Amino acid sequence: MLNGIHWCDNCNVPIIGEKCENCFKKANFVVLSRAADARPAFENDIRLIKSLLREWIGQPTLKKLDMERKIVLLNRLPYLDKAYEVLVDGKILCHVFFDLYTFKWKVKPLKPLCSLVIEENLGKIAFVNKEKVSKDEILNSTDFKFNAGESEDLVCLFSRDEKSLGLGFLTDNKIIVLKAWSPSKPRYNFGKKASFKDAIKANKLSIEHFESRACSFLERYVNRFKRKTIISYSGGKDSLICLLLSLKTGINAKLLFTNTCLEMPETLKNVERVVEALEIDVIKAEADCTEFWSKAEEVGPPARDFRWCSQVCKLKPTKKVLASFGETLCIVGQRKAESLKRASSQAVWKNRYLPNVINITPIQNWKASLIWLYLIKNRKENLVNELYFKGFDRVGCYMCPSATIADFKMVKEWHPELWEKWEVFLQNWKKRNNLEDAWLTYALWRWKRRTPKGIRNFLGKSSIKTVF
Ligand SMILES: [Zn+2]
Repeated sequence: MLNGIHWCDNCNVPIIGEKCENCFKKANFVVLSRAADARPAFENDIRLIKSLLREWIGQPTLKKLDMERKIVLLNRLPYLDKAYEVLVDGKILCHVFFDLYTFKWKVKPLKPLCSLVIEENLGKIAFVNKEKVSKDEILNSTDFKFNAGESEDLVCLFSRDEKSLGLGFLTDNKIIVLKAWSPSKPRYNFGKKASFKDAIKANKLSIEHFESRACSFLERYVNRFKRKTIISYSGGKDSLICLLLSLKTGINAKLLFTNTCLEMPETLKNVERVVEALEIDVIKAEADCTEFWSKAEEVGPPARDFRWCSQVCKLKPTKKVLASFGETLCIVGQRKAESLKRASSQAVWKNRYLPNVINITPIQNWKASLIWLYLIKNRKENLVNELYFKGFDRVGCYMCPSATIADFKMVKEWHPELWEKWEVFLQNWKKRNNLEDAWLTYALWRWKRRTPKGIRNFLGKSSIKTVF
């Protein structure tokens, strides 16, 4: 089954079900990559995308596109670093990606964007002496006309009679065809303005349906197990939803927050705000910072395939605090769409490190778009961790090995003191173990045993010394 999202072209909003509850039209299905866990683009995201698109379509077309007054969704793509599909007007307009050659964000246009590019023609187009092109084809300088000089860049390919043919990469006076599509005269259908309010109206019953199912799930398991109930709160949007759903169900529970000692200041602030606003009791578990740093000195940085940090910073302090509660039921914000590993997990489970705890998640089948619509519908945006509005997809430790270089760049910018401490540690480790510069530049410490093939290819190396 293909992953994707439904979209009402008439109302220009995402649809949770299959039919729009506002105009009653059947929604269109847009195929998306990976888990199709698209989230709304917020102010900062829109600003970034606009700044990237400006050189492609210019200010007048950018204004006509009017992304600030529409629902724009971002969906993560598999790539060397951070990359998204950008969904505007119910179409994947383009990809944006954090380029590891330049350490800057870039745009990869798709057919809808190419249709807009030709309107302004700012020199991002090559006119080809052909009626169609095919993927991986190499076009020589005699095959095309390109006006903007000799830069090395992506270009939209058009035929002489202005049919959109595909996307190419211009290099050394040649064009490599990256994508080819069926030739057609471009026409971009601009969607109408739409706000979150419109999106909520078009999905009201669906949101309420998911809510009532989650609440009855919680009620059922709390009654079945009759244990002391705890809501695990991480400062993330998923655990915030679980907290709100638990309160709605009338569950008498305490909040548990484990401070890993590697938290972003925004997360610590968020915990305080949520506890105060919802007037709920909180139990805090604190990781031993000294233990983390001395273990790091001993075995090296935690990595995606060497996750000793979760044991030291999360499980150990959590276990210590929970020990005094005996048998507990823990409500956790875990979703299928988050990762492949979680896709196969159950809505009720035990962790072998915490044998006295039964975990349940009421939001197993919720997608990010539903999470955001729910939060906005219930006017709880003010309780959301501000990291999401700054550009993060998930909330975690500031040096989490699961994060991207684009994420680390943001951490470095906002919290230089935190990042510096980590970088000093990495520099010392690199020196002591005689590792290559690339290990630090490309944050290869995120993998202990084997760097992913894509990154090895990018660096032009069959193997990289990262093992220490
Ligand atoms: Zn509609």
